[in-house]
Amino acid sequence: SLAEDNSTNEVKSGSGFKGHAMLAPFTAGWQTTDLNPLVIEKSEGSYVYDTNGKKYLDALAGLWATALGGNEPRLVEAAITQLKKLPFYHSFWNRTTIPSLELAKELQEMFTARKMAKAFFVNSGSEANDTQVKLVWYYNNALGRPDKKKFIARAKSYHGSTLIAASLSGLPALHQKFDLPAPFVLHTDCPHYWRYHLPGETEEEFSTRLANNLEQLILKEGPETIAAFIAEPVMGAGGVIPPPSGYFEKIQAVVKKYDILFIADEVICAFGRLGTMFGCDKYNIKPDLVSLAKALSSAYLPIGAVLVCPEVSEVIHSQSNKLGSFSHGFTYSGHPVACAVAIETLKIYKERNIVDEVNKIAPRFQDGIKAFSDSPIIGEIRGTGLILGTEFVDNKSPNDPFPPEWGVGAYFGAQCEKHGMLVRIAGDNIMMSPPFIISPGEVDELINIYGKALKETE
Ligand code: PLP
Repeated sequence: SLAEDNSTNEVKSGSGFKGHAMLAPFTAGWQTTDLNPLVIEKSEGSYVYDTNGKKYLDALAGLWATALGGNEPRLVEAAITQLKKLPFYHSFWNRTTIPSLELAKELQEMFTARKMAKAFFVNSGSEANDTQVKLVWYYNNALGRPDKKKFIARAKSYHGSTLIAASLSGLPALHQKFDLPAPFVLHTDCPHYWRYHLPGETEEEFSTRLANNLEQLILKEGPETIAAFIAEPVMGAGGVIPPPSGYFEKIQAVVKKYDILFIADEVICAFGRLGTMFGCDKYNIKPDLVSLAKALSSAYLPIGAVLVCPEVSEVIHSQSNKLGSFSHGFTYSGHPVACAVAIETLKIYKERNIVDEVNKIAPRFQDGIKAFSDSPIIGEIRGTGLILGTEFVDNKSPNDPFPPEWGVGAYFGAQCEKHGMLVRIAGDNIMMSPPFIISPGEVDELINIYGKALKETE
Protein backbone atom coordinates (compact mmCIF):
# COMPACT_ATOMS: atom_id res chain seq x y z
CA SER A 1 0.00 0.00 0.00
CA LEU A 2 1.03 3.59 -0.53
CA ALA A 3 2.82 4.37 2.71
CA GLU A 4 4.73 1.11 2.86
CA ASP A 5 8.25 1.67 1.69
CA ASN A 6 8.66 -0.92 -1.01
CA SER A 7 12.09 0.07 -2.11
CA THR A 8 13.54 -3.39 -1.89
CA ASN A 9 17.13 -2.43 -2.64
CA GLU A 10 17.35 -5.18 -5.21
CA VAL A 11 20.52 -3.52 -6.34
CA LYS A 12 22.73 -4.24 -3.39
CA SER A 13 25.22 -1.57 -2.54
CA GLY A 14 27.53 -4.11 -0.97
CA SER A 15 27.86 -1.76 1.96
CA GLY A 16 28.23 -4.67 4.36
CA PHE A 17 25.81 -3.31 6.96
CA LYS A 18 23.27 -6.14 6.67
CA GLY A 19 21.62 -6.88 10.04
CA HIS A 20 22.64 -3.49 11.44
CA ALA A 21 21.66 -2.27 14.90
CA MET A 22 19.26 0.47 13.83
CA LEU A 23 15.50 0.01 14.02
CA ALA A 24 14.91 1.92 10.81
CA PRO A 25 11.88 4.10 9.99
CA PHE A 26 9.43 2.80 7.36
CA THR A 27 11.63 -0.26 6.83
CA ALA A 28 10.45 -3.87 7.04
CA GLY A 29 12.31 -6.12 9.45
CA TRP A 30 13.17 -8.55 6.63
CA GLN A 31 14.84 -5.75 4.71
CA THR A 32 17.21 -5.13 7.61
CA THR A 33 18.06 -8.79 8.00
CA ASP A 34 18.12 -9.89 4.36
CA LEU A 35 19.42 -6.90 2.44
CA ASN A 36 22.30 -4.53 2.62
CA PRO A 37 21.01 -1.03 3.26
CA LEU A 38 22.00 1.61 0.77
CA VAL A 39 24.34 3.69 2.89
CA ILE A 40 24.75 7.28 1.71
CA GLU A 41 27.98 8.88 2.76
CA LYS A 42 28.40 12.15 0.91
CA SER A 43 26.43 14.67 -1.13
CA GLU A 44 27.28 17.26 -3.74
CA GLY A 45 24.71 19.49 -5.45
CA SER A 46 21.95 17.26 -6.86
CA TYR A 47 23.92 14.06 -6.20
CA VAL A 48 24.56 11.70 -3.29
CA TYR A 49 27.24 9.01 -3.06
CA ASP A 50 27.09 5.63 -1.35
CA THR A 51 29.85 3.95 0.62
CA ASN A 52 31.18 2.35 -2.58
CA GLY A 53 31.56 5.77 -4.14
CA LYS A 54 28.64 5.17 -6.53
CA LYS A 55 26.97 8.43 -7.55
CA TYR A 56 23.18 8.85 -7.61
CA LEU A 57 21.06 11.72 -8.91
CA ASP A 58 18.92 12.48 -5.87
CA ALA A 59 15.58 12.82 -7.65
CA LEU A 60 13.67 13.07 -4.36
CA ALA A 61 15.94 15.68 -2.69
CA GLY A 62 16.48 13.37 0.27
CA LEU A 63 12.85 13.13 1.33
CA TRP A 64 11.35 16.08 -0.61
CA ALA A 65 13.64 18.27 1.42
CA THR A 66 17.18 19.27 0.39
CA ALA A 67 15.98 22.11 -1.80
CA LEU A 68 19.42 23.72 -2.12
CA GLY A 69 21.16 20.44 -2.77
CA GLY A 70 23.93 18.69 -0.94
CA ASN A 71 26.71 21.13 -0.23
CA GLU A 72 25.57 24.72 0.08
CA PRO A 73 28.51 26.35 1.91
CA ARG A 74 26.47 29.27 3.23
CA LEU A 75 24.24 26.94 5.23
CA VAL A 76 27.26 25.19 6.70
CA GLU A 77 28.79 28.57 7.60
CA ALA A 78 25.54 29.77 9.18
CA ALA A 79 25.47 26.67 11.39
CA ILE A 80 29.14 26.98 12.40
CA THR A 81 28.86 30.68 13.19
CA GLN A 82 25.82 30.09 15.39
CA LEU A 83 27.36 27.00 17.01
CA LYS A 84 30.37 29.05 18.04
CA LYS A 85 28.24 31.89 19.43
CA LEU A 86 25.38 30.06 21.12
CA PRO A 87 24.86 26.37 20.35
CA PHE A 88 21.69 26.19 22.40
CA TYR A 89 19.26 28.04 24.48
CA HIS A 90 15.53 27.33 24.73
CA SER A 91 12.48 29.51 24.08
CA PHE A 92 10.27 28.59 27.09
CA TRP A 93 8.85 31.00 29.74
CA ASN A 94 9.53 34.19 27.85
CA ARG A 95 13.21 33.40 27.45
CA THR A 96 14.44 32.98 23.88
CA THR A 97 17.20 33.63 21.34
CA ILE A 98 17.82 36.08 18.51
CA PRO A 99 17.71 33.52 15.65
CA SER A 100 14.28 32.22 16.70
CA LEU A 101 12.88 35.77 16.92
CA GLU A 102 14.38 36.69 13.55
CA LEU A 103 13.06 33.58 11.84
CA ALA A 104 9.55 34.11 13.21
CA LYS A 105 9.57 37.66 11.85
CA GLU A 106 10.88 36.52 8.49
CA LEU A 107 8.18 33.85 8.11
CA GLN A 108 5.47 36.26 9.15
CA GLU A 109 6.60 38.62 6.38
CA MET A 110 7.16 35.94 3.75
CA PHE A 111 3.77 34.30 3.96
CA THR A 112 1.46 36.64 2.09
CA ALA A 113 -1.51 34.46 1.03
CA ARG A 114 -3.09 35.99 4.13
CA LYS A 115 -1.77 37.73 7.19
CA MET A 116 -0.02 35.54 9.74
CA ALA A 117 0.67 36.83 13.23
CA LYS A 118 2.99 34.30 14.85
CA ALA A 119 5.26 31.32 14.22
CA PHE A 120 5.54 28.40 16.65
CA PHE A 121 8.71 26.34 16.17
CA VAL A 122 8.97 22.56 16.15
CA ASN A 123 11.49 20.01 14.88
CA SER A 124 9.54 18.25 12.15
CA GLY A 125 6.43 18.20 10.01
CA SER A 126 4.80 15.66 12.32
CA GLU A 127 5.35 17.90 15.33
CA ALA A 128 3.96 20.82 13.35
CA ASN A 129 0.72 18.93 12.73
CA ASP A 130 0.48 17.67 16.32
CA THR A 131 0.91 21.27 17.39
CA GLN A 132 -1.93 22.30 15.05
CA VAL A 133 -4.33 20.00 16.88
CA LYS A 134 -3.36 21.32 20.30
CA LEU A 135 -3.54 24.93 19.13
CA VAL A 136 -7.01 24.40 17.69
CA TRP A 137 -8.25 22.60 20.81
CA TYR A 138 -6.82 25.31 23.08
CA TYR A 139 -8.49 27.92 20.85
CA ASN A 140 -11.92 26.27 21.00
CA ASN A 141 -11.63 25.66 24.74
CA ALA A 142 -10.75 29.32 25.18
CA LEU A 143 -13.81 30.31 23.15
CA GLY A 144 -16.04 28.11 25.33
CA ARG A 145 -16.69 25.59 22.53
CA PRO A 146 -15.48 22.34 24.13
CA ASP A 147 -17.38 20.18 21.62
CA LYS A 148 -15.72 21.71 18.55
CA LYS A 149 -12.78 19.30 18.45
CA LYS A 150 -12.99 17.01 15.43
CA PHE A 151 -10.59 17.23 12.51
CA ILE A 152 -11.37 16.42 8.90
CA ALA A 153 -8.46 15.23 6.76
CA ARG A 154 -8.45 13.47 3.40
CA ALA A 155 -7.97 9.92 2.20
CA LYS A 156 -4.39 9.41 0.91
CA SER A 157 -3.06 12.49 2.69
CA TYR A 158 0.23 12.30 4.57
CA HIS A 159 0.69 14.50 7.62
CA GLY A 160 3.42 12.63 9.50
CA SER A 161 3.84 9.60 11.70
CA THR A 162 3.40 10.60 15.35
CA LEU A 163 0.11 9.38 16.84
CA ILE A 164 -1.82 12.50 15.92
CA ALA A 165 -0.14 13.17 12.57
CA ALA A 166 -0.57 9.51 11.56
CA SER A 167 -4.24 9.75 12.56
CA LEU A 168 -4.68 12.80 10.33
CA SER A 169 -2.95 10.99 7.47
CA GLY A 170 -5.28 9.06 5.19
CA LEU A 171 -3.05 6.09 4.44
CA PRO A 172 -4.20 2.70 5.80
CA ALA A 173 -0.63 1.48 6.37
CA LEU A 174 -0.20 4.21 8.99
CA HIS A 175 -3.38 3.13 10.80
CA GLN A 176 -3.41 -0.68 10.65
CA LYS A 177 -1.10 -2.22 13.28
CA PHE A 178 -1.29 0.96 15.41
CA ASP A 179 -4.99 1.15 16.40
CA LEU A 180 -5.39 4.44 14.55
CA PRO A 181 -6.84 6.83 13.54
CA ALA A 182 -7.75 8.51 16.82
CA PRO A 183 -11.53 8.89 17.09
CA PHE A 184 -11.55 12.68 16.67
CA VAL A 185 -10.24 12.38 13.09
CA LEU A 186 -12.58 11.95 10.11
CA HIS A 187 -11.51 11.44 6.51
CA THR A 188 -13.16 12.84 3.43
CA ASP A 189 -12.50 12.17 -0.27
CA CYS A 190 -9.12 12.12 -1.93
CA PRO A 191 -9.31 14.73 -4.73
CA HIS A 192 -7.76 12.50 -7.39
CA TYR A 193 -9.75 13.20 -10.54
CA TRP A 194 -8.20 10.49 -12.78
CA ARG A 195 -8.89 7.76 -10.24
CA TYR A 196 -12.23 8.80 -8.77
CA HIS A 197 -14.22 10.85 -11.28
CA LEU A 198 -17.53 9.45 -12.50
CA PRO A 199 -18.07 8.74 -16.21
CA GLY A 200 -18.57 12.05 -18.01
CA GLU A 201 -17.86 14.15 -14.92
CA THR A 202 -15.69 17.25 -15.56
CA GLU A 203 -12.96 18.29 -13.11
CA GLU A 204 -15.10 21.18 -12.00
CA GLU A 205 -18.10 18.86 -11.39
CA PHE A 206 -15.86 16.42 -9.56
CA SER A 207 -14.70 19.25 -7.26
CA THR A 208 -18.30 20.27 -6.64
CA ARG A 209 -19.22 16.70 -5.71
CA LEU A 210 -16.30 16.47 -3.28
CA ALA A 211 -17.22 19.80 -1.68
CA ASN A 212 -20.81 18.55 -1.33
CA ASN A 213 -19.58 15.32 0.27
CA LEU A 214 -17.52 17.37 2.71
CA GLU A 215 -20.57 19.46 3.59
CA GLN A 216 -22.66 16.31 4.10
CA LEU A 217 -20.02 14.91 6.44
CA ILE A 218 -19.98 18.15 8.44
CA LEU A 219 -23.77 18.20 8.69
CA LYS A 220 -23.93 14.53 9.67
CA GLU A 221 -21.38 15.02 12.47
CA GLY A 222 -22.78 18.42 13.49
CA PRO A 223 -20.86 21.58 12.50
CA GLU A 224 -20.53 22.47 16.18
CA THR A 225 -18.23 19.42 16.57
CA ILE A 226 -15.88 20.11 13.65
CA ALA A 227 -12.84 22.21 14.53
CA ALA A 228 -10.56 22.11 11.51
CA PHE A 229 -9.90 20.81 8.01
CA ILE A 230 -6.33 19.96 7.01
CA ALA A 231 -4.95 19.57 3.49
CA GLU A 232 -1.70 19.51 1.55
CA PRO A 233 -1.97 21.92 -1.45
CA VAL A 234 -0.54 19.11 -3.61
CA MET A 235 -0.73 15.70 -1.93
CA GLY A 236 2.78 14.31 -1.69
CA ALA A 237 3.35 10.85 -0.24
CA GLY A 238 -0.14 9.76 -1.30
CA GLY A 239 1.14 9.74 -4.88
CA VAL A 240 1.66 13.41 -5.90
CA ILE A 241 -1.90 14.53 -6.50
CA PRO A 242 -2.46 18.16 -7.54
CA PRO A 243 -6.01 19.41 -6.86
CA PRO A 244 -8.60 19.33 -9.64
CA SER A 245 -9.78 22.71 -10.94
CA GLY A 246 -12.01 24.64 -8.58
CA TYR A 247 -11.33 22.25 -5.71
CA PHE A 248 -9.86 24.53 -3.05
CA GLU A 249 -12.23 27.35 -3.89
CA LYS A 250 -15.25 25.11 -3.27
CA ILE A 251 -13.76 23.38 -0.21
CA GLN A 252 -12.84 26.72 1.40
CA ALA A 253 -16.38 27.99 0.92
CA VAL A 254 -17.78 24.98 2.80
CA VAL A 255 -15.24 25.19 5.59
CA LYS A 256 -15.85 28.90 6.06
CA LYS A 257 -19.61 28.46 6.14
CA TYR A 258 -19.36 26.27 9.26
CA ASP A 259 -16.67 28.25 11.09
CA ILE A 260 -14.09 25.52 10.60
CA LEU A 261 -10.39 26.44 10.57
CA PHE A 262 -8.38 25.66 7.44
CA ILE A 263 -4.90 24.21 8.00
CA ALA A 264 -2.54 24.14 5.04
CA ASP A 265 0.09 21.42 5.40
CA GLU A 266 2.86 23.03 3.34
CA VAL A 267 5.59 20.69 4.56
CA ILE A 268 6.41 19.62 0.98
CA CYS A 269 4.87 22.43 -1.07
CA ALA A 270 6.38 25.54 0.55
CA PHE A 271 9.32 27.69 -0.58
CA GLY A 272 9.09 27.21 -4.33
CA ARG A 273 8.45 23.51 -4.93
CA LEU A 274 5.24 24.23 -6.91
CA GLY A 275 6.62 27.30 -8.70
CA THR A 276 5.14 29.70 -6.15
CA MET A 277 6.63 30.63 -2.78
CA PHE A 278 3.87 28.67 -1.01
CA GLY A 279 1.33 26.13 -2.22
CA CYS A 280 -1.36 28.46 -0.87
CA ASP A 281 -0.27 31.11 -3.39
CA LYS A 282 -0.72 28.68 -6.24
CA TYR A 283 -4.27 27.60 -5.35
CA ASN A 284 -5.52 30.80 -3.74
CA ILE A 285 -5.81 29.20 -0.32
CA LYS A 286 -6.33 31.55 2.62
CA PRO A 287 -5.45 29.30 5.54
CA ASP A 288 -5.87 30.01 9.23
CA LEU A 289 -2.86 27.89 10.14
CA VAL A 290 0.12 26.59 8.16
CA SER A 291 2.58 23.73 8.76
CA LEU A 292 6.15 24.08 7.48
CA ALA A 293 9.31 21.93 7.65
CA LYS A 294 11.72 20.28 5.17
CA ALA A 295 12.80 23.07 2.74
CA LEU A 296 12.53 25.61 5.59
CA SER A 297 16.16 24.72 6.34
CA SER A 298 16.79 22.87 3.08
CA ALA A 299 16.84 19.92 5.54
CA TYR A 300 20.34 20.81 6.76
CA LEU A 301 19.00 20.74 10.31
CA PRO A 302 15.64 19.56 11.62
CA ILE A 303 13.19 22.41 12.00
CA GLY A 304 9.50 23.03 11.36
CA ALA A 305 7.05 25.80 12.11
CA VAL A 306 3.36 26.48 12.56
CA LEU A 307 2.13 29.84 11.29
CA VAL A 308 -0.84 31.19 13.22
CA CYS A 309 -3.30 33.75 11.88
CA PRO A 310 -4.13 36.88 13.93
CA GLU A 311 -7.61 35.64 14.96
CA VAL A 312 -6.33 32.40 16.53
CA SER A 313 -3.25 34.05 17.95
CA GLU A 314 -5.35 36.80 19.54
CA VAL A 315 -7.57 34.28 21.33
CA ILE A 316 -4.56 32.34 22.57
CA HIS A 317 -3.05 35.53 23.95
CA SER A 318 -6.13 37.17 25.37
CA GLN A 319 -7.50 33.99 26.97
CA SER A 320 -4.28 32.88 28.65
CA ASN A 321 -5.43 34.45 31.93
CA LYS A 322 -8.45 32.14 31.87
CA LEU A 323 -6.84 28.95 30.53
CA GLY A 324 -3.24 29.36 31.61
CA SER A 325 -0.25 29.28 29.29
CA PHE A 326 -0.18 27.33 26.03
CA SER A 327 1.56 24.42 27.76
CA HIS A 328 3.09 22.84 24.71
CA GLY A 329 6.54 22.91 23.16
CA PHE A 330 9.80 21.09 22.78
CA THR A 331 13.26 21.55 24.23
CA TYR A 332 14.38 22.31 20.71
CA SER A 333 11.48 24.60 19.68
CA GLY A 334 13.33 27.47 18.02
CA HIS A 335 16.76 25.82 18.36
CA PRO A 336 19.14 28.70 17.56
CA VAL A 337 21.39 26.74 15.20
CA ALA A 338 18.46 25.31 13.21
CA CYS A 339 16.90 28.80 13.11
CA ALA A 340 20.17 30.35 11.91
CA VAL A 341 20.35 27.80 9.08
CA ALA A 342 16.68 28.42 8.21
CA ILE A 343 17.24 32.19 8.12
CA GLU A 344 20.17 31.71 5.73
CA THR A 345 18.09 29.29 3.62
CA LEU A 346 15.30 31.84 3.23
CA LYS A 347 17.87 34.54 2.41
CA ILE A 348 19.26 32.35 -0.37
CA TYR A 349 15.75 31.66 -1.75
CA LYS A 350 15.16 35.39 -1.96
CA GLU A 351 18.56 36.39 -3.35
CA ARG A 352 18.49 33.69 -6.03
CA ASN A 353 14.86 34.31 -6.79
CA ILE A 354 14.25 30.64 -6.25
CA VAL A 355 10.65 30.72 -7.46
CA ASP A 356 11.82 32.04 -10.84
CA GLU A 357 14.57 29.42 -10.93
CA VAL A 358 12.03 26.64 -10.32
CA ASN A 359 9.72 28.04 -12.98
CA LYS A 360 12.58 28.14 -15.47
CA ILE A 361 13.56 24.50 -15.00
CA ALA A 362 10.13 22.98 -14.23
CA PRO A 363 8.80 22.71 -17.84
CA ARG A 364 11.91 20.76 -18.91
CA PHE A 365 11.29 18.33 -16.03
CA GLN A 366 7.50 18.09 -16.37
CA ASP A 367 7.40 17.89 -20.19
CA GLY A 368 10.36 15.51 -20.32
CA ILE A 369 8.75 12.96 -18.02
CA LYS A 370 5.18 13.47 -19.25
CA ALA A 371 6.44 12.54 -22.74
CA PHE A 372 6.45 8.94 -21.44
CA SER A 373 2.69 9.03 -20.78
CA ASP A 374 1.98 6.68 -23.70
CA SER A 375 3.87 3.82 -22.08
CA PRO A 376 1.54 0.81 -21.80
CA ILE A 377 2.30 0.42 -18.08
CA ILE A 378 1.73 4.08 -17.12
CA GLY A 379 -1.75 5.12 -16.02
CA GLU A 380 -1.01 8.72 -15.19
CA ILE A 381 1.92 11.09 -14.80
CA ARG A 382 0.97 14.11 -12.72
CA GLY A 383 2.68 17.03 -11.13
CA THR A 384 3.55 20.69 -11.23
CA GLY A 385 6.70 22.70 -10.61
CA LEU A 386 9.38 20.35 -9.29
CA ILE A 387 7.15 17.57 -8.03
CA LEU A 388 5.97 14.66 -10.09
CA GLY A 389 4.29 11.29 -9.65
CA THR A 390 3.96 8.31 -11.98
CA GLU A 391 1.36 5.62 -11.41
CA PHE A 392 1.79 2.21 -13.02
CA VAL A 393 -1.39 0.31 -13.91
CA ASP A 394 -2.47 -2.29 -16.44
CA ASN A 395 -4.54 -1.30 -19.48
CA LYS A 396 -3.98 2.38 -18.65
CA SER A 397 -6.93 2.13 -16.30
CA PRO A 398 -7.12 3.20 -12.64
CA ASN A 399 -9.29 0.12 -12.10
CA ASP A 400 -6.62 -2.34 -13.25
CA PRO A 401 -3.75 -2.27 -10.78
CA PHE A 402 -0.91 -4.71 -11.37
CA PRO A 403 -0.86 -7.60 -8.87
CA PRO A 404 1.17 -6.30 -5.90
CA GLU A 405 3.35 -9.44 -5.95
CA TRP A 406 4.67 -8.39 -9.38
CA GLY A 407 6.37 -5.46 -7.65
CA VAL A 408 6.27 -3.25 -10.76
CA GLY A 409 7.05 -0.02 -8.88
CA ALA A 410 9.81 -1.67 -6.85
CA TYR A 411 11.35 -3.07 -10.03
CA PHE A 412 11.29 0.33 -11.72
CA GLY A 413 12.87 1.91 -8.62
CA ALA A 414 15.58 -0.73 -8.58
CA GLN A 415 16.39 -0.05 -12.25
CA CYS A 416 16.66 3.69 -11.50
CA GLU A 417 18.99 2.86 -8.63
CA LYS A 418 21.08 0.62 -10.88
CA HIS A 419 21.45 3.47 -13.38
CA GLY A 420 22.35 5.95 -10.63
CA MET A 421 19.14 7.68 -9.57
CA LEU A 422 17.10 7.57 -6.36
CA VAL A 423 13.30 7.99 -6.49
CA ARG A 424 10.49 7.40 -3.98
CA ILE A 425 8.60 4.16 -4.49
CA ALA A 426 5.25 3.44 -2.84
CA GLY A 427 3.60 0.40 -4.34
CA ASP A 428 3.18 1.24 -8.02
CA ASN A 429 3.53 4.98 -7.45
CA ILE A 430 6.85 6.60 -8.24
CA MET A 431 7.55 10.06 -6.90
CA MET A 432 10.18 12.64 -7.67
CA SER A 433 10.92 16.08 -6.24
CA PRO A 434 14.45 17.06 -7.22
CA PRO A 435 16.39 19.87 -5.54
CA PHE A 436 15.49 23.39 -6.71
CA ILE A 437 19.08 23.82 -7.89
CA ILE A 438 18.90 20.97 -10.41
CA SER A 439 20.55 22.04 -13.69
CA PRO A 440 19.16 21.54 -17.21
CA GLY A 441 21.81 18.88 -17.86
CA GLU A 442 20.85 17.06 -14.67
CA VAL A 443 17.17 17.17 -15.62
CA ASP A 444 18.11 15.59 -18.96
CA GLU A 445 20.02 12.89 -17.10
CA LEU A 446 17.01 12.31 -14.83
CA ILE A 447 14.73 11.92 -17.87
CA ASN A 448 17.22 9.62 -19.56
CA ILE A 449 17.48 7.30 -16.53
CA TYR A 450 13.70 7.33 -16.07
CA GLY A 451 13.29 6.33 -19.73
CA LYS A 452 15.82 3.50 -19.48
CA ALA A 453 14.24 2.16 -16.27
CA LEU A 454 10.79 2.39 -17.86
CA LYS A 455 11.88 0.40 -20.93
CA GLU A 456 13.34 -2.29 -18.68
CA THR A 457 10.13 -2.39 -16.61
CA GLU A 458 7.81 -2.58 -19.63
N1 PLP B 1 3.31 16.72 6.23
C1 PLP B 1 3.63 16.40 4.96
C2 PLP B 1 2.81 16.97 3.85
C3 PLP B 1 4.73 15.58 4.69
O1 PLP B 1 5.02 15.24 3.43
C4 PLP B 1 5.49 15.08 5.77
C5 PLP B 1 6.66 14.22 5.53
O2 PLP B 1 6.93 13.78 4.43
C6 PLP B 1 5.10 15.43 7.07
C7 PLP B 1 4.03 16.25 7.27
C8 PLP B 1 5.85 14.89 8.24
O3 PLP B 1 7.07 15.49 8.36
P1 PLP B 1 8.23 14.84 9.24
O4 PLP B 1 8.66 13.59 8.54
O5 PLP B 1 9.28 15.90 9.26
O6 PLP B 1 7.67 14.58 10.59
